[in-house]
Amino acid sequence: NPPIYVKTSLLDNMIGVGDMVLLEPLNEDSFIENLRKRFDHNEIYTYIGSVVISMNPYRSLPIFTPEKVEEYLPGLDEAYRSLRDQDKDQCILITGESGAGKTEASKLVMSYVAAVCGKGQEVNKVKEQLLQSNPVLEAFGNAKTVRNDNSSRFGKYMDIEFDFKGDPLGGVISNYLLEKSRVCKQPRGERNFHIFYQLLSGASGDTLTKLKLDRDFSKYNYLSLDSATVSGLDDAASFRTVRNAMQIVGFMEDEVQSVLELVAAVLKLGNIEFKPESRVNGFDESRVKDKNDLKEMCELLGIEQSVLERAFSYRTVEAKMEKVSTTLNVAQAYYARDALAKNLYSRLFSWLVTRINESIKAQAKTRHKVMGVLDIYGFEIFEDNSFEQFIINYCNEKLQQIFIELTLREEQEEYVREGIEWTNIEYFNNAVICDLIENNQNGILAMLDEECLRPGTVTDDTFLDKLNTICAEHQHFESRLSKNSKFLTDHSLPHSCFRIQHYAGKVLYRVEGFVDKNNDLLYRDLSQAMYKATHSLMRQLFPEGNPAKVNLKRPPTAGFQFKASVGGLMRNLQTKNPNYIRCIKPNDKKASHIFTDSLVCHQVRYLGLMENVRVRRAGYAFRQPYEPCLERYKMLCRQTWPHWRGPARDGVEVLLIDCSVPAEEFAYGRSKIFIRNPRTLFTLEERRRAC
Ligand code: ADP
Ligand code: MG
Repeated sequence: NPPIYVKTSLLDNMIGVGDMVLLEPLNEDSFIENLRKRFDHNEIYTYIGSVVISMNPYRSLPIFTPEKVEEYLPGLDEAYRSLRDQDKDQCILITGESGAGKTEASKLVMSYVAAVCGKGQEVNKVKEQLLQSNPVLEAFGNAKTVRNDNSSRFGKYMDIEFDFKGDPLGGVISNYLLEKSRVCKQPRGERNFHIFYQLLSGASGDTLTKLKLDRDFSKYNYLSLDSATVSGLDDAASFRTVRNAMQIVGFMEDEVQSVLELVAAVLKLGNIEFKPESRVNGFDESRVKDKNDLKEMCELLGIEQSVLERAFSYRTVEAKMEKVSTTLNVAQAYYARDALAKNLYSRLFSWLVTRINESIKAQAKTRHKVMGVLDIYGFEIFEDNSFEQFIINYCNEKLQQIFIELTLREEQEEYVREGIEWTNIEYFNNAVICDLIENNQNGILAMLDEECLRPGTVTDDTFLDKLNTICAEHQHFESRLSKNSKFLTDHSLPHSCFRIQHYAGKVLYRVEGFVDKNNDLLYRDLSQAMYKATHSLMRQLFPEGNPAKVNLKRPPTAGFQFKASVGGLMRNLQTKNPNYIRCIKPNDKKASHIFTDSLVCHQVRYLGLMENVRVRRAGYAFRQPYEPCLERYKMLCRQTWPHWRGPARDGVEVLLIDCSVPAEEFAYGRSKIFIRNPRTLFTLEERRRAC
């Protein structure tokens, strides 16, 4: 067990109570009031035992110097120490809704690590590279949304690797499903990924000429204009930061150039437009309207213009032995164009992650310890929720599940294991929602896959029909769903929608696009055209375009891949000792100093924080195996000092009686002593210090 962290300022009532376990009386109102009081005093961290609650201050506070982090985030300190001293792999799970401060917290964790561990040239280089991977990934993977001007549109898990001394050796980043639909279209009031604006604003005139780009955002179809500039974001300056970061991380100059060429290619691609050409048979066939953008894109990538042009008018369908060429109409050509842009961009993003990993991963093959940091997109409820929100919210359900499993259930089970009397605390278990989504037979993802693979005409509405029918007909499913009513159907539902009662609230999903996004089809003619490019990075990104490797098997669906990678992540997290940072958003105006009770209350509820405190309190706030407890406090009692002969358990008992601690304050477990009230512990600590 890590040493118990005791901080007397936790009891300072002026600024609220630092550990919710100590709150008197405890109810939802006092809980919120305590958060507000602390927030007003710039105390943005509050604990529930070892769980950190972090309020987004929406302005920089002086506490974020690395040296001070330790003082403000003792939980982190504890995680690091037990990693270093007790050889226990740790993970830090950062959760909360969009804009709650997860990404900032994860960067704080990284700068903390950089601050506490070793110096020296090699170590410093590793730290610098780890830190500089952030601006690169944020430029390509973050965007301004309605909720957050710097919203992560991908999930990120990073293992920071340490040697036996606790110095960083390197890191490995995994990314989860980039929201690639944003490349082609952004919701009102939102932007495309930062890099597009950064490149156009920050690159030199010379660079832009080489990339055949124009500085004017309005020239590009893929860039929405209503919010192209964001106050507080300096795109030009960010571009320099990103270039610099890429260099530190170890990108070669020609690699950077290649990456920017692909970014430019996406913009060009968006400007390619189509017109119908009538044919004798009555069908309209698509033709590229104005060939200039097509030409420039092909020049950038070294693709023969006629090859790409053809791929926008025809597609080849291969079945067993036959090859059939069919024409594309204008709508299909636009579809193909956007699919290419999305795939190009998201593969570029994955390549960046792989490339960064090559630089930052630990070179030595020696056994090392690991601290995992998870910063994944938060729960999202928009007016219009699509496949992306469905996937994101599914992932958040899984994280909530792991939190429940590890924190609440573990807590209760430990009492049982230790033979201590325990009254059960009811808490909401979201396993039913996870099952509704991921069940292999009749979960929503499975039904979507089934629909996508079914021959015949498949549309989003046939998928919805299937969902609804199965809910009505399938007896087992029916009872499971309606009893817990997580899949909500009623007549008030708008057309083409389904609704799920997530742990964080009801979400209405519009099925439009589910089938397409799950299929994620890219016509082979296009991947083959890309593979013919002389641009070597481009070729690398489209290996399936290699005609020698034609694979008739269908690639796995987006939903299937995501479910598999989230499953892998959960298994990985379960092998580590979890630490939690639960982020809360104080208001939805992105404003400092505003604390909206109702908003905070909603988050406190769905994060299950009240249950969390109740479990900690109903039972025993602290516990420790007998040996270390005796070791730590034996000097407080004549009989146990300096040596206690006999079982440690008995020693602890003698010690506590001698210190006249009331009997109801303790319970003797099989292997641990359980301490009901943390104040008891503080008293022991004070006496120990006075010794
Ligand atoms: P999330 O990743 O949860 O969506 P972010 O970490 O991107 O949210 O935070 C959103 C914004 O809130 C940041 O861009 C920053 O302006 C502000 N913010 C978040 N955490 C802090 C913090 N600890 N100190 C100052 N500002 C913060
Ligand atoms: Mg984020």
